[in-house]
Amino acid sequence: MTVQATSDRMTAHGDFLKSLGIENKPIVRLQQVHGGRAVRIDAKTDISAEIPGADAAVTNVKGVVLSVRTADCLPVFFYDPEHAAIGIAHAGWRSTKERISPAVAGLMKSAYKSDPSKLIVGFGPALRQCCYEVKSEFLVHFPDSVVKMAHRHYFDIAGENAEQLLSCGVGSKNIFDCGICTSCRNTEFFSYRKEKDAAGRMLSVIMLDGK
Ligand SMILES: [Zn+2]
Repeated sequence: MTVQATSDRMTAHGDFLKSLGIENKPIVRLQQVHGGRAVRIDAKTDISAEIPGADAAVTNVKGVVLSVRTADCLPVFFYDPEHAAIGIAHAGWRSTKERISPAVAGLMKSAYKSDPSKLIVGFGPALRQCCYEVKSEFLVHFPDSVVKMAHRHYFDIAGENAEQLLSCGVGSKNIFDCGICTSCRNTEFFSYRKEKDAAGRMLSVIMLDGK
């Protein structure tokens, strides 16, 4: 299995895929509409264009690259070692509100019999609580994941996704968080919050090795 994320400002997405030796593999790109829909990719799925209306995908087809593009939103990787299946999600706050991470776990369960307690989940670089100031309205959506400090509110998007995954049976020991904040480490990672429209997009990919 290959899990990787790039943000090297000098490296185009194509070069990134090349560096992993997967530039010729079929790659699944999602429309990323900030919704809660996860789609199943099988050998017959047409992946010549972005998958419409999707912010997450799952597959058990070997050699097919699942990808998401982010600049502050949380990339979430899923791996079921028991049934050899993978998933990926683009989890911004809207998709998190729509419970995109549990949607992936649920789809892997129905499609591949994935046991949530056996799933391995990874969180990539994202805008973290240290830099993710939000309006107090966020408390309505995420009462347990908004922290109040000095009259300001900060959202813990990774913590919220972790909580949602724990609530659907994923084990806390199986959630691996890189902990990187895209804004704090903006010299290495794109941050929409910090750079606005000048921000590029980081490509995250996951693939099952094989033919
Ligand atoms: Zn930060």
